[in-house]
Amino acid sequence: MSVTTIQPSTVFDPEDLKTAFSTKTDEELKLAYFLFRMMGKPTLVKLGGIATVWALKLGLPIKGLIKGTIYRHFCGGETAQQAQSAIRRMANAKVYTVLDYAAEAKEDEAGFDHVLDEIMRNIRLAKITGEIPYISVKLTGIGSREIFRKMQEGEVLNQEEQAAFQRTENRLDLICKAAFEANITVYIDAEESWLQQGMDELAEKMMLRYNERRAVVFNTLQMYRTDRIAYLTDLLKRSEGYDVILGIKIVRGAYIEKEQERAAEYGYPSPVFHIKADTDRSFDKAIDICLHHLYRVELCAATHNEASTRYLVNQINRQGIADHRKRIHFSQLYGMSDNLTYNLASAGFNASKYLPYGDVATTLPYMIRRAEENTSIAGQMGRELSLLEAEMKRRKL
Ligand SMILES: Cc1cc2nc3c(=O)[nH]c(=O)nc-3n(C[C@H](O)[C@H](O)[C@H](O)COP(=O)(O)OP(=O)(O)OC[C@H]3O[C@@H](n4cnc5c(N)ncnc54)[C@H](O)[C@@H]3O)c2cc1C
Repeated sequence: MSVTTIQPSTVFDPEDLKTAFSTKTDEELKLAYFLFRMMGKPTLVKLGGIATVWALKLGLPIKGLIKGTIYRHFCGGETAQQAQSAIRRMANAKVYTVLDYAAEAKEDEAGFDHVLDEIMRNIRLAKITGEIPYISVKLTGIGSREIFRKMQEGEVLNQEEQAAFQRTENRLDLICKAAFEANITVYIDAEESWLQQGMDELAEKMMLRYNERRAVVFNTLQMYRTDRIAYLTDLLKRSEGYDVILGIKIVRGAYIEKEQERAAEYGYPSPVFHIKADTDRSFDKAIDICLHHLYRVELCAATHNEASTRYLVNQINRQGIADHRKRIHFSQLYGMSDNLTYNLASAGFNASKYLPYGDVATTLPYMIRRAEENTSIAGQMGRELSLLEAEMKRRKL
């Protein structure tokens, strides 16, 4: 790790509203404000989600309404080409794109191959435009959930299942190889704990194969899981002496209720913390561990949490990590926490946004998840709303 002390070009100030919303027109700002106010009403979100799913199923003409509102705020477009304008707007503010094909895959081989084709097309597009440095991959998009579950629970796979799992590995290998050749980065998303073990193994295999000089492949660690610090420590130990730069993306974790419900249903101890403060501590501890091993780790802090973001920024400054741009990445979701992303970028840090794309019907589950996540007044929604309100005032709207 470098010991020379440097100051970032400017100070990270998440309160700088002008920078935070620099790419938003007045109209977009008003739309965002309206949306976050609506999302603050849990009953409305619940009923709205159900009604929208049914309306689309029945072919009612609501696509236009969705496209002009929640879709426009959280998604880049129906195709990767359509997402180009959002990609370019972010690139102009030095915010990088993590291109995310948001469709929930069809659970069959044709569906998995379709996702593979889409991602491979995106890598080619990234190579041509030079504006998409990262792509994300969900392994349940290119492989069977059931096989991941069986593997984890020690069930023996029959020949057909073994062949199917091999095809999943081959698909991931094609993606990682193409990313390596195109000089872009692959974030492998983390999913439910009962599927994750096989996913970790695949991610580690790919890291060993492609991460010799830089982290082409990142695995994701959900820090709400009680075992992830131990996993991280063990991974560091196991990879000692290998020519590999580990790519570690840390998140808090998206499936807390599902995890708790399943543990209760099957009667095993909950794999996730019960108290938010424990998750927060575990997230920051993972930051410390990664910073300590920065000579063979690249870290991506994927979070909307301002305290964790400030913590990492302060550690970079305090420890004088001169090559932080090479080793440390910050990421948020498109349509959320612009005050972090744009101010991080403006202060000289690597900042990116997950930009989902896909048609309205297929991105609907993603949008409903965003709406549900933003219902709590105490959580992110309150923060988003107060920032948007302040910016509206600043612009005298
Ligand atoms: C760029 C990006 C990529 C992501 N990729 C993934 C991914 O691959 N896999 C994935 O699972 N998620 C992913 N997420 C979602 C992420 O896991 C979180 O759900 C989301 O970001 C909210 O957490 P936070 O750190 O932003 O903020 P906060 O609002 O500070 O934290 C909320 C989170 O804290 C945890 N939490 C809440 N209540 C409790 C409690 N009582 N006890 C313990 N923990 C609690 C939950 O994880 C909850 O989501 C991603 C998020 C971002 C920004």
